[in-house]
This record gives sequence, structure tokens and C-alpha cells, in this order.
Amino acid sequence: MNDDWKARTRAVHGGIRRSQYGELSEAIFLTQGFAYDSAEAAEARFISAGEDEFIYARYGNPTVRVFEDRIAAIEGAEDAFATASGMAAVSGALLAMLKTGDHVVASRALFGSCLYVLEEVLARYGVEVTFVDGTDLAQWRAALRPETAAVFFESVSNPTLEVIDIAAVSDLAHAVGATVVVDNVFATPVFSNAIALGADVVIYSATKHIDGQGRTLGGVVLGQRDFIRKTVEPFMKHTGGAMSPFTAWVMLKGLETMDLRVRAQAASALAIAEALQGKAGLARIIYPGLADHAQYGLCMAQMGQGGTVLALDLEGGRQAAFAFINALQIPTISNNLGDAKSIITHPATTTHQRLSDADKQHLGITPGLVRLSVGIEDLADLMADISQALEVARDSVS
Ligand SMILES: *Cc1c(COP(=O)(O)O)cnc(C)c1O
Repeated sequence: MNDDWKARTRAVHGGIRRSQYGELSEAIFLTQGFAYDSAEAAEARFISAGEDEFIYARYGNPTVRVFEDRIAAIEGAEDAFATASGMAAVSGALLAMLKTGDHVVASRALFGSCLYVLEEVLARYGVEVTFVDGTDLAQWRAALRPETAAVFFESVSNPTLEVIDIAAVSDLAHAVGATVVVDNVFATPVFSNAIALGADVVIYSATKHIDGQGRTLGGVVLGQRDFIRKTVEPFMKHTGGAMSPFTAWVMLKGLETMDLRVRAQAASALAIAEALQGKAGLARIIYPGLADHAQYGLCMAQMGQGGTVLALDLEGGRQAAFAFINALQIPTISNNLGDAKSIITHPATTTHQRLSDADKQHLGITPGLVRLSVGIEDLADLMADISQALEVARDSVS
């Protein structure tokens, strides 16, 4: 790979390792183990494995390594470790680096499973977690302490799309020596500058935009080589959350088209958000790429785009939201996001059902809120469908 190549070129050619057959498409090495020429060769590999030498697929496989090298090249990270799911990446990265007595500061607006890991799992192992409003730098400053080992936040929160200032939080965290861990799913690798802005560790659920076609679960932890190979790899190697070679192959194919898909999705999301301005029946349109979003300036500086997801708050609460969802003909009712297919979700009753009413209210997850992950369908078709569904939603409560 040429160091001057842009992300879009790296997404197609990054990390490629061809076998002796010179195959065009990446090979799937569907093998869990590797054979050695002799007992001496086995011994030597266990002492020190070279670049192209593998021992066991729980911690290394040629197809998985191509995926790791390619996503690291796109992200501008030194190295990457691929995992079985996004949550294996989140829990693996945190558990690999933390120990009893450590302190963590995290933003409160988190994906439900991330909240479980931070609130329930870490507490059980004696790690104290302080939650803050991620958009309020004063709260970060007040919460950080000399024993703070890590900070954790979603750079764009789910589902209310608040944007957190990666550079500012990183500066504060680094001043006390804490590692900055960013769950960057909503920003996507296409619009991410997280490492350049100061993040130490970036995590993706590859299930979302990287696959982008609803097929496989996967995740990845990106960061400096020492952190990935000396902290994350030993932990993952012995606890078992590895990505399968087949999944890595699907994700590699996803990476080839990710830039095209994600840019088309973000352009449509912006067009839909703009077209819905002032429409009757909508109490609120939340999209970080709209000038009226509270962190619009930060979003443009940090990502350059608003991303592929928007949230709509319908007048008429849950009844209007359900009528809207049921009337849509193109977006699929599902809880995934970042897919080629547009997807509609009612967070209050599905992904965020577990939260108390007070927490939902605090996070802005109102009964009328729907989350729309915009796909790659024809924009005019999507707009017409959303318009007719809005009318149905209005009629349902009038
Ligand atoms: C989906 C998601 C995860 C978890 O990823 P899985 O691949 O489903 O395990 C973590 N964080 C965010 C922000 C997500 O959207």
C-alpha cells in the first residue's frame, strides 16, 4: 500500500495478501488452525510468530488480518483487532485495560449494551464509573480524577444524535493520563477523524455501516500497535471473542463499497431532514447536519457531514409514531442501522425499553421519537413514502 493513498483507495486495496494463486478477490481462509512442517517449526512459531505466520484463529487468521489491516489503514490507526461483534469490541477493550480500583468517566447517552457493560459489569469488578452529560465539558472536567484510567463515549449518541467534542474531551482526559475510548459507530469510518482529533482507541460495530448489508455481526478495536497487540490481543486471545474468517471476508467486501454507500446515505439523510423542515405533525427534526442542531458547528468541524441517521419527534406521541412506522412502505421496521435498506425504529419501546421513564425523558427519548437510518434507495421514493406516512400519522391523532 502506498502511504499517499486516500481512504477510498485503501478501502479497496488496503491490507491485501494474495496466496500463491494470485486470486483477485480476497481469499477466505476458513480454517481454525495452522499446520507446521516439523516439531521444531511449531516450537519456533510459539516462541515468536512472524508477520505471515498464524497459530490459531482465536487470535489470528489471514483473512481476519487483511480486514484488520484494511480498516486500520482507512482509520489512520497503527493497528486493529477484529472481534465477534461490536459489543465484544467494547467489552474487550475496556476489560483488557481496566483493573479493580480504576475510575472511568462515560457519557450517559449510550447504546443499551454499552450502558450495561459500564454500569453493571465494571462495577462488579470494582471499577467505578461516573456518568456525565457528554456535551457539557464542565461535567467532564469535574468528573476526571488522577485515578481516572479511561473515558468512554459515543461520538454521536444514539438515538438523539448529540455530538461530543472528541478533541476537547481528549485534551481534558489526557491531562490526567486517561485513555480516550470512542465508540464511533454513528460517525462511521467514512466521516471519522477520531484518532487525528485525539482519541486513543476507536471502536466500531462492523455490523452497521462496515457490513452495511445486514449479513454478519462483527466489531473492531483500533489504536496504537502496543495497545492492540500487548493489551487487547492477549485478553481477546484468552477470552475468545474473535471474528470468524467468513465474517472478515464479508466485512472486507463491505469496506470496498462503504464509502459510496455511506456518502449516498448521508446525502439522502440531509435532503430528507431539510425537506421535512416546517412539515405539519413534526415537533422536532434531529439531524446534526442541520444548522439548527445544537452541535452543528462541532459536527461540521469533526465529521464534515451529519451522518446517515436522523430522528423525528412526532406530535401525538406513541400513537402517531406507531401510525407513522406502520404506514411506511420502504423503510423496514428493525433495530439495526447503517444498512443499505432504510430502517425505522421506535427507541422508547425497543432499543431503549430498559431505561426508566425518568432516564428516557432526560435523554430526550420521547414517546413520539422515531429513529430513521437512511438507506441507499431512490431519494424521491423515500421522500414520497415519508410524506404519505406523515399524513397517516397526523390523521391517526386528529
Ligand atoms: C450496534 C452498536 C453497538 C454494538 O454492536 P453489535 O455489533 O450489535 O454488538 C455498540 N455501540 C453502538 C453505538 C451501536 O450502534
